[in-house]
Formats: sequence, C-alpha cells, structure tokens
Amino acid sequence: MKIADIRTHLLEHKLDTAFESASMRFDKRVHVLVEIICDDGTTGWGECLGPAVPNAAIVQTYRQWLIGKDPLETEKHWAVLYNALRDQGQRGLTITALSGIDIALWDIKGKHFGVPVSTLLGGRFRDSVKAYATGSFKRDGVDRVEDNAADVARYREEGFHATKIKVGFGLEEDLRVIKAVRDAAGGDMRVMIDGNHGYDVIEAIEVGKRAADYGIDWFEEPVVPEQLDAYRAVRAGQPLPVAGGETWHTRWGMREPLETRCVDIIQPDICGCGGFTEIKRIADLATLHGVRLVPHVWGTAVQIAASLQFMASMVPNPVRNNPIEPILEFDRTDNPFRQAVVTKPLEHQDGIVAIPNGPGLGIEINRDALKDFAPKA
Ligand SMILES: [Mg+2]
Repeated sequence: MKIADIRTHLLEHKLDTAFESASMRFDKRVHVLVEIICDDGTTGWGECLGPAVPNAAIVQTYRQWLIGKDPLETEKHWAVLYNALRDQGQRGLTITALSGIDIALWDIKGKHFGVPVSTLLGGRFRDSVKAYATGSFKRDGVDRVEDNAADVARYREEGFHATKIKVGFGLEEDLRVIKAVRDAAGGDMRVMIDGNHGYDVIEAIEVGKRAADYGIDWFEEPVVPEQLDAYRAVRAGQPLPVAGGETWHTRWGMREPLETRCVDIIQPDICGCGGFTEIKRIADLATLHGVRLVPHVWGTAVQIAASLQFMASMVPNPVRNNPIEPILEFDRTDNPFRQAVVTKPLEHQDGIVAIPNGPGLGIEINRDALKDFAPKA
C-alpha cells in the first residue's frame, strides 16, 4: 500500500449571528479536512485546527514527502515532516497541518488492520465518555448575562453534567455572568470558565478569587499562552485550578508548562499539537508530572472522532478505585457542518458520547456535505 494522493476540503458557513470569545470573533465557521488516498483505495481522514486556508497550503507543501510512501509508517512520517519545516516551524500552522496528516494516516492504519485507532494506541479503557457543553460566547445584540444563563439552562435540560462559559470581557460583567450561570446550572452541574487569554495577571487573580465562591471547576487560559511566568503567578495567586494548552504544540511546547507547573490541567488539541503520534507522548509527559489531561476540541465530527479514539486509550488515574475519567469538550455553538460531514452524527445522550468502535476513526464521511459546505466562489 502506498500514498497516492492528498486532498484538502475547505468547509465554510456564514453565521446568522456572530459571536466572540475574549480573543476571537466568529462571523463564519471555517474548517479544513485532510483526505489521504492510497493506491489500493483505502482513504484516511484528518482535520487541522486553526485557519483553514493556510493549513491546507501547508498540508500540500508536505505532500512531496508522502506521495509513494507506505502510510503505515506514522512515526517515520511525523519525524520527516517535522524535520522538513523544523527550522521555521516548531509550533503553529506547520504543526496543525502535520496534525491533520497524522490523524488521516492513523485512520488508514486502523482501516488496514480492521481495528479502531484506540486499539492501535494500546487498547480501550472505556466505550463512552461524559461530555461538557462548550458555548456561552458573547453574541451580538443580546444581554450577555441573560443569554449565557439561558444557554446553560438548556444544556442542563439536554442532560449535560458540565458546561464551560466564556469570560475575559471585563471583570465585573464576567462575575455577573458567572453568578447567573451558576444559578441556572444548579448546584450539581460542573461549571468551568475560559478566559481565552483576555486578562492580565492582576485581573485573572481577582476573577479567580471571586469566582471561587461559585464552585468553578477550572479556569482556562487566564492569560496569554506565551507568558508562562504569568500562568505561574495566576496559579499561585488564586484558588481555582488553572487549565491551558490548546495553543501549545508538540512535546517540546508542553514540556515547560508541565515541568514548571503552569497548569493543573493540560489541554492539548489532537488537531493542533501533532496528531495521535504526538498527543500520546504528551499524555505520557502529563502523567509523569501528575497533571490532568483534558483534550481541547473545536472542530467537526472528524476531530471529535479522533479525540474520542485517543480518549478511549487514556490510562485512567488511578487505574482502580474511583478513577478520574477524561471528559469530552462538546461544542454547542452554531456550526451546521460539524456533524453533517459524517453519515452518523456523534451525538450525546444525556451528556454521554459513545466512542465509535469501527475501523480507524470509526466514521464514514458524507461527501455530499463536503460539496454543500465548500466555500462559494
Ligand atoms: Mg479554550
């Protein structure tokens, strides 16, 4: 079996209502899928996190090192591609593009051997995971306090046991939102806050101290990701567990945050940090340092499926007696192609998502949806 072709599929949807985090505004949803086709007809799918057009361009730059090669040699391809752009590309788009390729190669490998990727990673510790609802952004033209509280009440009705809301827009308004959301969630639903690096250290410490009264599970990305000293200061200065890592890539990018304990919870994104090959190493590093790992997920069903395969294989800690189980980030914001790209949507039932057990990622791509959501010229 040899790699015969590599294609990228851009997906785009213009939103009726734009929404914002503290660092980014979304007026459309744009994602890119990677398709690797082998000479025997086997096809693998991957996805890249972040800007779709430059990701697609870098995927095609990597093509020259892959065509004609054996797709099963995932470790070798990772090393060759990483080395090819290493001097200017140790993090960022070079790694997000590499992640999409690596995921597609593992999908091929699973299909070739007739097993889910989780089996190739060492075995399945679980067949389902609890999901947490991610939403509650700042939407145009509505009262943020009421809107976020209504979102969370709806997630609760849908059966979710946990939710994450967006903060980082300003201390006093954020605290009003947190209070309203806790009231809507009730006492037994987990609530997390995500600053999307919208605070400085002084504000983040103040938010963390005051939000602690509302039983917040974790405080994600309080400060900009390149300021590791600031992360450590926030962690030392307030009581909430600190989470982060969706923009840190590869084992080298994760090493200092783990070794110097910038976070209590590390959040690698499989479509950003280097695919299956690298997230497995990052999980080992996190275990070594006693840091909990909760994957970041912000993509289509291809990314959700890849994250689920990895999560199936995560070794529970401790292995017996009330183990800490991984929890899936489940995006609830407007994105009509998120589940349309697969023939069987990966939906939740009472806040629990089943992990597919078919070969590879365990999904079938709906090619009609790829056409329907291709950017219009
Ligand atoms: Mg986040």
